[in-house]
Amino acid sequence: MASTSEESLWSATAAPLAPLPALREAVRAQVAVIGAGYTGLSAALHLGQAGRDVVVLDALELGDGASGRNGGQVIPGLKYDPDTLEAMYGGDQGAKLVATVAAGPDLVFDLIRKHGIACEAVRSGWLQLATSERALGPIGRRVRQWQARGAAVEMLNPAEVARLTGSQRYYGGLIDRRGGTVQPLAYVRGLARAAQRAGVRLFAHSAATHLERSAGEWRIRTRDGSVSCRQVVFATNAYSDKFVEPLQRTLVAVPSMQVATAPLPAELRRSILPEGQSVSDTWHLLRYFRLDSQGHLIMGSRGVFGDVPLVHAARLHYRAVREIYPQLAGISYDYHWAGFVAMTPDHLPHLHEVAPGIVAGLGYNGRGVAMATMMGTLLARRLLGENAEDLGFPVTPVRPMRLHRFSRFGAAAAIQYLRALDELARFAERFRRRKGTM
Ligand SMILES: Cc1cc2nc3c(=O)[nH]c(=O)nc-3n(C[C@H](O)[C@H](O)[C@H](O)COP(=O)(O)OP(=O)(O)OC[C@H]3O[C@@H](n4cnc5c(N)ncnc54)[C@H](O)[C@@H]3O)c2cc1C
Repeated sequence: MASTSEESLWSATAAPLAPLPALREAVRAQVAVIGAGYTGLSAALHLGQAGRDVVVLDALELGDGASGRNGGQVIPGLKYDPDTLEAMYGGDQGAKLVATVAAGPDLVFDLIRKHGIACEAVRSGWLQLATSERALGPIGRRVRQWQARGAAVEMLNPAEVARLTGSQRYYGGLIDRRGGTVQPLAYVRGLARAAQRAGVRLFAHSAATHLERSAGEWRIRTRDGSVSCRQVVFATNAYSDKFVEPLQRTLVAVPSMQVATAPLPAELRRSILPEGQSVSDTWHLLRYFRLDSQGHLIMGSRGVFGDVPLVHAARLHYRAVREIYPQLAGISYDYHWAGFVAMTPDHLPHLHEVAPGIVAGLGYNGRGVAMATMMGTLLARRLLGENAEDLGFPVTPVRPMRLHRFSRFGAAAAIQYLRALDELARFAERFRRRKGTM
């Protein structure tokens, strides 16, 4: 994919974390957590608070996976609507699953408050906006289903959308007041500090390379050290490598990319997202955008596979900004960055029991700020002895995809196809607008 090495807005603005050591000795712990994004850190924090002795290993700097690179949109729910989830999993289990995913944003904002995490948290809601008349149908059903469960979700007409976004581009949409925004890397670092205060030992630049079983224990080796432990959490998601090869083959790592404009001039800032909501729209290759605390407009969408310089790959992002906000024509761009999203064939996150004492949580399909944080608590509860049936989330076997080695090509082809569909729809819309039939 396009290089991910350019500095992101988030790494330029998050308060630094005290440098973490690499693991250079043989240590013992009760639990080893592999991967220090939201999943791993949330699991470690909850295990540490429950009195477990926990070691966390990350191959990179903390937050160099998706957790420090994402859009920071705290989005309630999964891709499927609540009625669909209940139908998929059946009465009681389905209802519990819906309750679990619905509680994600509360968990995030509660952790931020409880641990005093300074991460620009704003809970002003998430907007899902219709790019066509037809897209209003599914959005309306979503609103009714969440309202039936008492959630603060409402339909918005085009005028209300225009007022909340400063864009005339949309046909209406929904506001889900449970959602909001965070500075994603600051949230990672805040979780890391909270975990450290709970006694968790964190190591960066310490990729787990081997896993062995001996004398009733697991031993995880890194290049220069090892951890011996009874329990293990795999929290490597889209950044899963050969170390967790069967898990790596349960998902496709798809590039997603963002750009941030220069801070908007004050007069435009008053009309563009004046109340600070975050937005996703309904294109097949959806666009997601928000402001940060300094007034940068951050625009995200699918990235490109292959070694393409980010500024070239950003062409489509610049165009998205121009289409949604013609008043920003000529604005300059301060940051470009990218990361990998973990997509699963069933579009659902997965919680696996990989082997006795080893659990894994991954596959958030682009909605991991709330869900990965929640997954971390589920993994912790399971390792603390809670019954799988009581977690409120299905525990499923690991099902590696057949022909996974071709999945990257399949994903690249699918992205091209969906991009073409969107282009066609945009062309048809421009035509209708010109003829005044909109
Ligand atoms: C560009 C982009 C935008 C996104 N926007 C949003 C958004 O706005 N809202 C939203 O809800 N979600 C969004 N997402 C998705 C969200 O970021 C992820 O779902 C979430 O961060 C996953 O967290 P995680 O902890 O499971 O994985 P990660 O944060 O990716 O962490 C996995 C970690 O595992 C480590 N690792 C891998 N292998 C090993 C090994 N062998 N040994 C040690 N460590 C290892 C990696 O170094 C990495 O740090 C976005 C993702 C991207 C890429």
